[in-house]
Amino acid sequence: MSQSPRVIIIGAGLSGLAIAQGLQKNGIDYIVIERESEPRDRNWGVTIAWSHPFLAELLPDHLFRRLTDCQPDPGLDSKSAGRESVIIRDGHNGMTLVEPPFPGVRRLNIQKTRTIWAQGVNVKFGKTITDIQVNVDGVVAHFHDGTSESGSVLVGSDGGGSWVRQWLLGDAAISTVLPYTFLNFSFTYTAERAVMMDKMMHPIVDVGIHPKSMYIGIFLLDKPDLEKPETWIFYILATWPRSEDDYREGKDMVQELKKRMDGWADPYRSAVEWIPPETKAKAVPFKIWGPKSGWDNRGGRVTLSGDAAHSMTFHRGQGANNAIRDSERFVHAMLAVKSGEKTLTQAMDQYEEDVVTRGREEVEVSRVQTVALHNYEDFFNSPIMKHGIRPTIDINSLKG
Ligand SMILES: Cc1cc2nc3c(=O)[nH]c(=O)nc-3n(C[C@H](O)[C@H](O)[C@H](O)COP(=O)(O)OP(=O)(O)OC[C@H]3O[C@@H](n4cnc5c(N)ncnc54)[C@H](O)[C@@H]3O)c2cc1C
Repeated sequence: MSQSPRVIIIGAGLSGLAIAQGLQKNGIDYIVIERESEPRDRNWGVTIAWSHPFLAELLPDHLFRRLTDCQPDPGLDSKSAGRESVIIRDGHNGMTLVEPPFPGVRRLNIQKTRTIWAQGVNVKFGKTITDIQVNVDGVVAHFHDGTSESGSVLVGSDGGGSWVRQWLLGDAAISTVLPYTFLNFSFTYTAERAVMMDKMMHPIVDVGIHPKSMYIGIFLLDKPDLEKPETWIFYILATWPRSEDDYREGKDMVQELKKRMDGWADPYRSAVEWIPPETKAKAVPFKIWGPKSGWDNRGGRVTLSGDAAHSMTFHRGQGANNAIRDSERFVHAMLAVKSGEKTLTQAMDQYEEDVVTRGREEVEVSRVQTVALHNYEDFFNSPIMKHGIRPTIDINSLKG
């Protein structure tokens, strides 16, 4: 006998919103709960490559067609610009080390994407989950303001520091801090420099690795006014072996980065040199978490997706792609429950087999990629050289 489930989604990030859109498209009841009441101040871009077909499944046609509006540069068509690739250069001389091709590759600004994907879905903002109760009839989520929601299944799409993961796994949910200093900060240039940088850098991903064990990526975050280059927002991701002093309260990390730029070539040298002096940045802990053998899903009632299920380093650009794959697999599982093809337990066990296998693999592969990017000689044996930005396992062979 079929029974349509009701889903409680915790977190309105890319994964939670993609699930919500997919459930809505298929007439399955849900609610999204998000602790923020406004978009967060941290923002970055993600490279969407192999997850495109899954987005086409999840999003309604009018939103899928609006993916260009989610891009940092809405006017960029990577295909007609002849830039369907990402570039990794030798930071010391600017020469290309590898430029893996990827048809259809695009960048998404995550704040713009969340704003657009939240349209038309049922999201309650400003609520933080504080407790979960599982009973024979379903699951109840309790929130900090004393309210609650009941459903048949709860999915924790609540990001790398997931509360739901902690509820499921206790201490085993604690992330590992990797031994790298990590900077992620944005800024604008003068109009003239913004135009020069826009021409100099690869428009999708432009990263340099340096023999002195340093990584720098220069990216476009937004072009609020195409006619006014002084409004264009760029950002830098930088990593190097961790120094405790970099995490000292109040340390000026833009100055620290500038001090470390000797021996770097363009576009990275100018990208850092031209950062306005008033720009502030601080080092953030560089954390990962991978599922070892999954979690007890309490009879299929509580599960995870996206960074909550597998939080990986950004160096291979796989986190959002895997989060979207999880969302597509989760909706697929709910459809099997709705049609009566599977029980909730069967559907969730199969969903998690895929999420855990794929997530465990990519958290480790991305970690290996991170290490290799800081070890110049080893880079040529690294996953990006072998697999580009494709998954390292055949995702279609996984159950789920
Ligand atoms: C600098 C950087 C660069 C990256 N580059 C790439 C890339 O190029 N390609 C790629 O594929 N991936 C990339 N990633 C990874 C990608 O951004 C993530 O994998 C993806 O955004 C994860 O989405 P999510 O929905 O799982 O989590 P999130 O986007 O973190 O969303 C989680 C949501 O849950 C909410 N929440 C948290 N706790 C609670 C709670 N207790 N109650 C209610 N709500 C809660 C949060 O407010 C948030 O809105 C990058 C990541 C970073 C940091």
